[in-house]
Amino acid sequence: MLDTAKALVKSAAQKLGLSQAEIDQLLTINKEHQFEIELSEGQRLQAYRVQHNNQRGPYKGGIRFHPEVDFDEVRALAILMTMKTAALDLPLGGSKGGVVVDPRKLNTAALEQLSREYVRHLKDYIGPDKDIPAPDVNTNSTIIDWMVDEYSVLTDDVSRASFTGKSVAKGGSLGRDAATGRGGLIALTELLRHQGLEKKKLTYAVQGFGNVGSFFTLVASQSHSKLVLVAASDSGSGIYNEKGLNAEDLSKFKAAGGRFKDYASKQISNEQLIGLDVDVLILAALGDAVTERNVDNVKAKIIVELANGPVNEAAYEKLTRGGCVILPDIIANAGGVVVSYLEWFQNMHGENWNEAKVNAELKKYMTKAMLKLLKLSDQKHVSLTEAAFMLAIMHLKDIKN
Ligand code: NAD
Repeated sequence: MLDTAKALVKSAAQKLGLSQAEIDQLLTINKEHQFEIELSEGQRLQAYRVQHNNQRGPYKGGIRFHPEVDFDEVRALAILMTMKTAALDLPLGGSKGGVVVDPRKLNTAALEQLSREYVRHLKDYIGPDKDIPAPDVNTNSTIIDWMVDEYSVLTDDVSRASFTGKSVAKGGSLGRDAATGRGGLIALTELLRHQGLEKKKLTYAVQGFGNVGSFFTLVASQSHSKLVLVAASDSGSGIYNEKGLNAEDLSKFKAAGGRFKDYASKQISNEQLIGLDVDVLILAALGDAVTERNVDNVKAKIIVELANGPVNEAAYEKLTRGGCVILPDIIANAGGVVVSYLEWFQNMHGENWNEAKVNAELKKYMTKAMLKLLKLSDQKHVSLTEAAFMLAIMHLKDIKN
């Protein structure tokens, strides 16, 4: 993953004519933190924070708790955060954190201790003007609320702008839950408009009906888009109905703890979903969902990367050669970091916006980035993925188009 992230940055930088020294500077990680957290029960856990680049503003990036976290993965994700915030033209940099732990094996007291210890180790290096962490895989608003509280106790900071992804009661922003799915729909709508398809009825399938996938379908159904949801999946199985599935019913079913294997509809496997004859394939589960193993089955002409890195390099090459348009993750799933920025902004200015205002701001950022992306891709005759990295680097290096 680190090699791929670096290769994407390098290739885009070369296309923009940057020197080797400038490319090296773009790839340089400013600061790395590696430490051990010892829990009362005696367990010792490896923890990381990687601060890649802050030339546009404070570092910004989530913290994941996962048994397979490793240093290189955290480095790669920090670089991608710099690219994402820069592509969206946010006044933020890029960072990432992780702890090697399976949080399901910790009781609530141990999870709280871990969260607070993580902050204690990093208190001098994070904060509203330095580095603003957020939730990521297996971390949520409860964990972030503990972290904000710990940071406030240690530093007397009362702004609560030291972290984003807090509960609304503790200074979080309205609209954050739906932001990534909503942002993905805004991005896709701009792409369809660019392709002259916005008025056409199009079918789509969603791999991964979790937070991001479900909100994408809900917002699509509420905004009267011409998109017809025909398939969806969770980690167990998928469901299919060529006449259309009801996003609201599916969301209620999942919110009540349902599994699609028990949903009254035609059942399909996740691999069958990937190979469905749909117009648009939404990838909202995990990385490496489409690889050399299954790329030949893909029939969709548009793929939206809502997960991070769901199409691997080999599959990307093949799909792009075959005329499939891939809306890249650093733009497609950036709605979450845009609203995180809006949360930080509200905290810094003592404001509490209503949801309509948050959504309007999100739309402004996503639309602006998409219009720039589409223009650049046309002008330079490059894929949307290449254009997204070029756009980020142009913002980082202040290169005008
Ligand atoms: P989530 O845990 O709420 O949902 C993930 C969904 O994917 C679940 O329905 C799960 O059952 C399903 N899933 C897991 N493995 C699967 C598999 N092999 N095949 C099919 N489905 C599978 O997570 P989320 O917050 O919705 O995030 C989804 C993806 O989007 C992740 O890759 C995440 O890193 C990325 N992302 C999330 C955000 C955000 O704001 N939540 C922002 C940017 C990127």
